[in-house]
Amino acid sequence: MTFLCGLYLVVGAIICLFFGMFAVTSTRERRSRAAILACCMVIVMVAAWLGLYLAYESQPLPLMIPIVAVVLITLVFFFPIGIRKPVPCAKVTERVDERDVMFAREEYEAGTDKYEQYYRMRPEFKQVDDRLRKLPPLLHPGGRYYDASRSESIRDTFRTISRMTVQVDGPCAAQSAIVDPDAMTARIKNTVLELGADDVGIGPLNPQFVYSHVGRGPEPWGRPIVNTHKYAIAFAVEMDYDAVETAPKLPTVEESAAKYLKAAKISIELAERIRAMGYPARAHISDSNYQIMLPPVAADAGLGEVGRIGYLIHPRLGARLRLGAVTTDLPLVPDKPISFGVQDFCEICKKCATNCPSAAIPKGDRTVQRGVEKWPLAVEQCVYYWRVVGTDCGLCMKVCPYSHPPTFVHNLVRAGIKRSRIAQRLSIWGDDVFYGWKITRDTI
Ligand code: SF4
Ligand code: SF4
Repeated sequence: MTFLCGLYLVVGAIICLFFGMFAVTSTRERRSRAAILACCMVIVMVAAWLGLYLAYESQPLPLMIPIVAVVLITLVFFFPIGIRKPVPCAKVTERVDERDVMFAREEYEAGTDKYEQYYRMRPEFKQVDDRLRKLPPLLHPGGRYYDASRSESIRDTFRTISRMTVQVDGPCAAQSAIVDPDAMTARIKNTVLELGADDVGIGPLNPQFVYSHVGRGPEPWGRPIVNTHKYAIAFAVEMDYDAVETAPKLPTVEESAAKYLKAAKISIELAERIRAMGYPARAHISDSNYQIMLPPVAADAGLGEVGRIGYLIHPRLGARLRLGAVTTDLPLVPDKPISFGVQDFCEICKKCATNCPSAAIPKGDRTVQRGVEKWPLAVEQCVYYWRVVGTDCGLCMKVCPYSHPPTFVHNLVRAGIKRSRIAQRLSIWGDDVFYGWKITRDTI
């Protein structure tokens, strides 16, 4: 056997191994379309590669053509080309009033002082919010996927989180411990991971990411929010892949609730430990005691990039996560924001927008909002659909190519996406072929 024949067979074996691994991965992920197509690819590759080999074994020069083609495709896939710098969210020029957040607005009941006061201030939202309130609230009878016992049990979890909102802050120990910021940063990160988070980062707290006024939770509605903490410790909690795959049905909101509860426990415990060292610390938890906007805070803390979907996209967990945070004055060393090609990829992908049943995610370009270029979400339409189905939907999270589990094959694709615009185009094409372009026909 000549060197060329040997090389040809090795290259063929690597390609078949890649598709074989993809078939196994897809079977484990219960993605039957991808698994069947990957098996077909293995069969086609084996047949074509061996067929060529048998045809040209005696005069192997033409075997160079497929070898060169594979090498070129691999080089193009990983060669750094065309990736631009992400738009930094830190440039934002204006704070958001939490009273304007959709989750606050949907709670204003007609006939109450809050309702009258709010819609005097923001009459432009009244019609759309009144229309929304005509539908049953989330997890209540009337939603498409309502199930008496399961929906009630999920509401219990949210009620538990609501009761925890009074534990987010408290007095500090009288004496502040003397700390070395480097050592303390390492210790805090270890603590967060030990408490159950899947990743953690520390950012400087940008005051523009602090809501201007209280809109939800136990604190007085409309009170100006003052949070001058220097740092935000942000962390991610992974959502179970199988549960997210059931979106927009009940298991996905079950998983959301469980992970919001987990994030709340982690942040409350962490804030308590920091206050015990004599430094102020405030946990920011769901349902709702957020004083800060978590996605940009987590992006500043180096946990990921904010995508078209409006969520943080993490390099390993994708959009399949829930965030938590503690703000504090404990001396720490902040991380730097990271970039792995998400914003470039989102410009051409648009899979979340294609599959959003309420058309809440734009298919167009970013627009400038509060001084930053971002994709404007129609949150009213999103929450309207939540009420129609009675869950928190999650279809956009499910279809996002970054939400695939971090297996070898998916990580290899992500490595290309991070470096090359061509790899991004090929990956989107591959994702559509193997997983489907439009996975839902569901609409409002
Ligand atoms: S959660 Fe559902 S309705 Fe809302 S933006 Fe995502 S896909 Fe659209
Ligand atoms: S589905 Fe595509 S466009 Fe949407 S957030 Fe994910 S990568 Fe970006």
